[in-house]
This record gives sequence, structure tokens and C-alpha cells, in this order.
Amino acid sequence: MSAPDYDPKRVDALSPESLEHARAEALEALRDASSLDELAAAKTAHLGGSAPISLANREIGVLPPAARGDAGKRVNEVRGVIEAAFLSARAALEDERDARVLVEERVDVSLLPGTVLPGGRHPLMALQDRIADVFVAMGWEVAEGPEVEHEWFNFDALNMPADHPAREMQDTLWVAPEGSGVVLRTQTSPVQIRSLLARGLPCYVVAPGRVYRNDALDATHSPVFGQVEGLCVDEGITMAHLRGTLAHFAEATIGQGLKTRLRPSYFPFTEPSAELDLQCFNCRGEASRQPCRVCSDEGWIELGGCGMVNPAVLVACGVDPERYSGFAFGMGLDRTLMFRHGITDIRDLYEGDQRFTLALGTEG
Ligand SMILES: [Zn+2]
Repeated sequence: MSAPDYDPKRVDALSPESLEHARAEALEALRDASSLDELAAAKTAHLGGSAPISLANREIGVLPPAARGDAGKRVNEVRGVIEAAFLSARAALEDERDARVLVEERVDVSLLPGTVLPGGRHPLMALQDRIADVFVAMGWEVAEGPEVEHEWFNFDALNMPADHPAREMQDTLWVAPEGSGVVLRTQTSPVQIRSLLARGLPCYVVAPGRVYRNDALDATHSPVFGQVEGLCVDEGITMAHLRGTLAHFAEATIGQGLKTRLRPSYFPFTEPSAELDLQCFNCRGEASRQPCRVCSDEGWIELGGCGMVNPAVLVACGVDPERYSGFAFGMGLDRTLMFRHGITDIRDLYEGDQRFTLALGTEG
């Protein structure tokens, strides 16, 4: 049989030497791969489209038909050997990885758990709930309202018409766009209006919640703070009911035997209006005998405002002021808490420091 008629240079890749060389190189590379990534790279180099074995395979097409079968067989044999080597190397490396993961990611179930801080209720929330509890025990209901409020509820219905100076007294945060008539509520009083409109009469509600003012944050001011509001509207309600309720509230929340007093004041939504003072829980009103840091020797602490619901507010809510009367009060939760615990910086209430929360949270 005569020698095949083809150009020997073009089929160097198919020579037994070349194929043996490709096989040896491939097996060495696969064997040397020490990680799955390296193995993948070796596979690309020795079995991929540009690998010697693949190039050799492509050369088969240029051989005379008689020589193709023989060459193809040799190429396939070598490829088979390389593929088998790859599969066994991969299996070995995967076993190794699995074994390593089992060791590295082992969970020691006998270890003691790490220290987890239990957290605590925020002191403002605790105080808010405690106040609500006092009123619920008297048969009142807890009411809530939106913090983004329409000016009608926040001002108009509370006897503060558009030109009322009280609107300027309170530095209001208006919600864009200008003229939207929507505000971040400046007080919890709009909940009074919503309660009268939605719940009907008689109405006994206490409404704790966050309110917003256009104040810069410093040691004594915060643009957001807590208030609690109370409203009672029924037949025959007098100022005596207001006094008795607040006295009971102050005793139950702040301290037994503490007196309260009312001082004349002005609010648009109550008439008459009063400031509610509480006897200083620290010196019990005897600051004259020894200096008192809590009340600055006043003997009294200002707790909030109150008064008889202005008939104009009742009318705005469709209530007949000839038949019904009521009282309302509001007080700052932050101030109460700060007095109670001698906190001098309001920012402590809002910075979320767990140590602060833990120290005060459960007590309120
Ligand atoms: Zn005092």
C-alpha cells in the first residue's frame, strides 16, 4: 500500500508524537490542578476549542478519506484519556472540598451562646403605655390619628382660623407642595376632632403620639416629640371633673400624694384654659427649705395645658354645646420623662442608645 498522498507538514498535529505530547501535557496539567478553579482552567486549555487535541481533530478533515478513520481513532483515544483524567481529578477535588467545608463550617453545638443584649422598651413608649393604662382603667379609650394631618383638623376645627396668630405661634412643618393644606401635626389635638366626628357621644379618649414642630435639634428642643392628649365630652361635664381626673392621673403616673394646681392660661381650643402644674416629686413643694434642682426651687413642675372644650370646637364637630360640655388636656411626654429621670438632654431620647433604653425602658 502506497504512502498516503498528503502534505505531512499540515498534519503534524495528528502525528502519534504530537498526540502523545498533547496527552502528557494535559494529564500533567490536570494532575497539578490543586483547586476546582485551576482544574477548570486546565480543562479549557486541554479540552477546549483551542486545545491541541481539538486543533488536531480539526485537521482530520484535510486528510485523504483513507487516512481519516485511523487518525480519528487516535485523536478520540487521546481525548477519551484526557476526559477521563479530568473527571477523576474533578471528583477528587470535589471530595476534598466537601471534606474541608465540613471541617471549616462545623458548628460546635456545645459552645455557650454569645451575649445577646435583651433590649428594652423605649422609655417614651413605656411612659405612653403607662399613661394610657391609667385612663383605660377609668373607662376611657385610646385613640390614634395620622401624623400627616390636614390643616382643618390641626388648626381650623380647633378654633384656629387661617388668620389666627396661634398658627404662627406654632412653627409648623408644612407638607409640600406649598398650599397643600397638609401638615405634620403640631399637636395631638386633631385626634380630639377625629374622635368626636367618628365615635360620637359621650366621648372619652386619650391619644398619645408623636407631633412635629419646626425646631432645630438641641439639648432642649426636638423637631419631633411625644404628647398625650385627653378629651372627654359628655352631658354635665365641669371643670371639677377636669381637676379630679388630672389629679388622679398625676398620682397614678408620677407619685402618690402629689398635689396638682391649675393656673389661668390661654389656648384657642379651650375656654377657660389653664396650665396644669404638679407638685415637685423631688422636694414635694418644700424647695424653700432646701435647694431643688428638679423644679429650680419653684416647688411645682409645669406638666401641660388643659381647659374646658371651647364651644366653637364642639360646633365644628357637630356637637350641640348647649347640651354637651367637655374638657381636654395635653402634655409633653418628653418633658415629663426628662423631669422624672433628671434627663438634661432631649437628644438622649432619640439617639437609640441601648444603654439609655435599658436603664429607663422598663420603668417609664
Ligand atoms: Zn423641687
